[in-house]
Amino acid sequence: MNIHEYQAKAVLKEFGVPISRGVPILEKSAARSAAAELPGPLFVVKSQIHAGGRGKGRFKETEAGPQGGVRLAKSPEEVELFVGQMLGRTLVTVQTGPSGKQVNRLYLEEGSDIAKEFYISLLVDRSTSRVSFVVSTEGGMDIEEVAHKTPDKIVTFSVDPATGVLPHHGRRVAQALGLDGDLAKQAGKLTAQLYEAFVAKDMAMLEINPLIVSADGRLICLDAKISFDSNSLFRHPEIFALRDESEEDAKEIEASKHDLSYISLDGEIGCMVNGAGLAMATMDIIKLYGAQPANFLDVGGGATKEKVTEAFKIITSDPQVKGILVNIFGGIMKCDVIAEGVIAAVKDVGLTVPLVVRLEGTNVALGKKIIAASGLNVIPADDLDDAAQKIVAAVKKV
Ligand code: GDP
Ligand code: MG
Repeated sequence: MNIHEYQAKAVLKEFGVPISRGVPILEKSAARSAAAELPGPLFVVKSQIHAGGRGKGRFKETEAGPQGGVRLAKSPEEVELFVGQMLGRTLVTVQTGPSGKQVNRLYLEEGSDIAKEFYISLLVDRSTSRVSFVVSTEGGMDIEEVAHKTPDKIVTFSVDPATGVLPHHGRRVAQALGLDGDLAKQAGKLTAQLYEAFVAKDMAMLEINPLIVSADGRLICLDAKISFDSNSLFRHPEIFALRDESEEDAKEIEASKHDLSYISLDGEIGCMVNGAGLAMATMDIIKLYGAQPANFLDVGGGATKEKVTEAFKIITSDPQVKGILVNIFGGIMKCDVIAEGVIAAVKDVGLTVPLVVRLEGTNVALGKKIIAASGLNVIPADDLDDAAQKIVAAVKKV
C-alpha cells in the first residue's frame, strides 16, 4: 500500500527524521490560513498524488503561467494563486501515464535553501533477505538514469537483522555522501532513524529523493515516498487508515471487497482462473500465442457462485477487455459451480465479447452440460493450449 508524501513525512517525524514544516491543503479556501502557519518568505506547493516526477510534471488543462506539480511560491498571495491553479487539476508525470492523476490534495511546506541534493532509500532486498540501503550523491534527478549511466555513483549495503542498524552503517552513508563533521553526525542519526521506521512500520520501500543539505548546514528529507508490505497492515491500523482509495485501481478495490486476488494489467484478454500458479500459466500462454492478459485473477479454491459472478463483473467492467478466458481446474472448486457462476454473470451483465471456457476436474461433465444447455455464446475448449489459441484467435478477429 502506498501513501502520500505528507503522510509519509508525518510517519517519519515520529522517528525523529528531519523534515520541513508543512500543512496539507484539501480545499482552495484553506490556502491563506495554511500559509499563515508557516514562517515564509519561501513556500513550496506540492501536488499529492501516488506518483513521482511531480516537479517535472505538467497539468493537462493548459494554461499560461507557471507549470509543474511542485512550485516555489515567494509570498502567501502566490501560494493562493498556485493552490487555485493546481487543486482539482490533472497532473501528468512520467509515472502517471498519459491520462495523469487528479490532484485532490496539496501539501504546503516552508521552502528550503538547497546547497546539495542527495538520494537515499531503503528496501527489502530479496537476494540477501535483508533491508538494504541505496545511497547516492546524485539526488533530485532520475535515480534509474544514474543507475544506468553512472552506476559507480550508487552505494548499496545491507543490514544484518540480527544486529540491526549500527554506527558503522551511519558512517558508510556519510562517506558515500562525502559528508564530515557535524553533517556526518546528522547522517549517522538519520541512518538509524530511517532503519528503525522501516522495520517498525513494516515498510517495503522508503525513498528520500532529494535528501538535502540546506544552506544553513542541516540534512532535511525534502521528499518521501513509502510503500508498506500489505501483508502487515493488519497490525498497523494507523497506517491502514492513511489509505487513499481514490489513488488506487477501482477494479482492484472492488476485487478486494470480495476477497478476490485481482491485479489490473494492460492487455485485452480478461482471465478468470483458480489458483495463482494456473493464473500465471494462463497469462503466459496468452502471451505465447501473441496477445496480452488484461488482468491476473485468482478466484480461489473455494469460490462460490456469487464470487464468480463478482469476478466476471469486474472483468467485463474493463473497457480494454476484448475477450475473456475462463480456465478452471476443479479440485476443491467444482466445475458445475463455476459454470453456474459464469452463466449467472453473463445473464446479469451481458456478454459483448467472445468468451472461451476451459473446465477440467471435479464435476467437469456436469459443468460442460450446464454451459451447453445455457444457450449462451460460449466457445468451449478442451485444454489450456486449445483455450488460449481459441481466445487469441477470437480477439484478433474482432
Ligand atoms: P518529485 O518531483 O515528485 O520527486 O517531487 P519532489 O518533492 O522531489 O520535488 C521536486 C523538486 O522540487 C526537488 O527535487 C527540489 O529540487 C524542488 N524542491 C522541493 N522542495 C523544495 C524547497 O523547499 N526548496 C527548493 N529550493 N526547492 C525545492
Ligand atoms: Mg522527489
